[in-house]
Amino acid sequence: MTDTADMPRPRASILDIAPYMPGESEIAGANRVFKLASNESPLGPSPAAIEAFRAAAQELTQYPDGTAHGLRAAIAERHGLNPDNIVCGNGSDELLTLLAQAFLEPGEEAIHTEHGFLIYPVAIRAAGGVPVVAREENLTASMDNILACVGPRTKLVYLANPNNPTGTYLPFNELKRLQQALPAHVLLVIDAAYAEYVEQPDYEAGIELVGSSSNVVMTRTFSKAYGMAGLRIGWMYAPRHVIDVINRIRGPFNVNVAALAAGAAAMRDQAHLRRAVAHNSRWRDWLHEQLAALGLEVTPSVANFLLIHFPDTPGKTAQEADAYLKRHGLILRRVAGYGFPNALRVSIGPEEANRLLVDALREFLS
Ligand SMILES: *Cc1c(COP(=O)(O)O)cnc(C)c1O
Repeated sequence: MTDTADMPRPRASILDIAPYMPGESEIAGANRVFKLASNESPLGPSPAAIEAFRAAAQELTQYPDGTAHGLRAAIAERHGLNPDNIVCGNGSDELLTLLAQAFLEPGEEAIHTEHGFLIYPVAIRAAGGVPVVAREENLTASMDNILACVGPRTKLVYLANPNNPTGTYLPFNELKRLQQALPAHVLLVIDAAYAEYVEQPDYEAGIELVGSSSNVVMTRTFSKAYGMAGLRIGWMYAPRHVIDVINRIRGPFNVNVAALAAGAAAMRDQAHLRRAVAHNSRWRDWLHEQLAALGLEVTPSVANFLLIHFPDTPGKTAQEADAYLKRHGLILRRVAGYGFPNALRVSIGPEEANRLLVDALREFLS
């Protein structure tokens, strides 16, 4: 063994990071497996996006357009935005990480909520920052609790709306109240990865708030409703001064040729997106109802997943349910790392998987 004192050592804060654990995707021995662990779309991408991806195979020799001009134009057109206020990323994870690197000096604080997305503390610590956790109320972010965490060293607030893994959301008036109460030098990052799914009239993804202030940004993704998690495409809508900062530190070719082409094609196929959203609403509500009828507590969700809480009774816990479902070819997500040791998160799947899940859980609980 080498003396560790002689080995290259990273910054101390890096070793405090708990590695992000992706959802599982394989079960040894099972022949038919439904992966419902990573909130991927059962409809997959738009056929137009697949075609654009294939065509991009002819263009692999050259570097991609580092400005992502075509993709930004497609996004801007769809959402009625100025393309100069958009920057694209290799997944929205990249943008969330770059924001921490850009705005946190070592030792400065960034706030996230109690059951917030686990990428935030990773991004904060990787930048040498200090994560500060705001308690939630009823498994929902609380504006007052976030504001109570703001101190002289606070620089960033990460807020997933809707949140993963709870599926709960905050209405526009609450976000507006948060923005108005935050000091102007604190950047509010609204992670709207699931915005496309939300049909509540009091929800606003962040476009209005970004447009009317200088300390709010919104991140979005092609990984969820657009069904393209494998290609890694995210984007951010932000004031020009934030866009300028991210453009200085991102990789000059951070979005690849295939992603640029397929992303623009997907954005232009809104009919496909509407089908994905309609499928989700229908089966999410059905699944919630069915699981509740089995006596399980389910957190009301506006996104493409449900958080299912299990009884404490030995034999009926989340861990045992997880093992049982795996034997039936259903992979759900353990969420102990999110503060839910006795719950599982399930992504809304194809009809067959949703029905299989209800049948399997009925058996499991009986
Ligand atoms: C899935 C997810 C993302 C998306 O990440 P990508 O890097 O764009 O795939 C972002 N935020 C939350 C809360 C998510 O659940």
